[in-house]
Amino acid sequence: MRLEDHLHLIRNVPDFPKPGILFKDITPLLANGPGLRAAIDDMIDATAGFKADAILGIESRGFLFAAPMAYATARGVILVRKPGKLPAKVIKQEYALEYGTDTIEIHADALYEGARVVIIDDVLATGGTARAAADLVVKAGGVVAGYGFLGEIGVLEGRKRLTDAPVVSLIRW
Ligand code: AMP
Repeated sequence: MRLEDHLHLIRNVPDFPKPGILFKDITPLLANGPGLRAAIDDMIDATAGFKADAILGIESRGFLFAAPMAYATARGVILVRKPGKLPAKVIKQEYALEYGTDTIEIHADALYEGARVVIIDDVLATGGTARAAADLVVKAGGVVAGYGFLGEIGVLEGRKRLTDAPVVSLIRW
């Protein structure tokens, strides 16, 4: 795995965005050419077995991985975005946060019936966001072929919420 040589480019930022959260900051990895390429190449390899028709990126850091993965494999990118960003008719999914709720959206016509989609994000934490994205895929007529993350925070057990399809992550914190 090529990413192994670049793990020092992911730094921990304590108490961001609020006290008690250890934030995994991937901006130094994104800024490093060989590091970024290794991350993308390894994510392509790790998700190849899902045989997805399209790559779904979750706003916003998911886009940074989904688009180059899609480009390199000649597939399209499907966007899941925060509310009010997608211009055409949308399907919405609300999901629980530690305090309160949040919503994400997909274009209602983003997927053809039965399209196999791999859901991509940078970090799997509680799994709430990826779960909501998967629910959107199903509502839009698609099939979740699998989930791919740069890394997962193991203690939060997010993958327990993603039992409908295989989950891969390159790093376990
Ligand atoms: P969750 O829904 O709890 O799995 O959180 C996933 C989303 O929040 C992802 O889009 C991550 O980018 C972000 N996130 C959650 N926790 C962290 C963390 N400790 N470090 C970096 N990003 C995080």
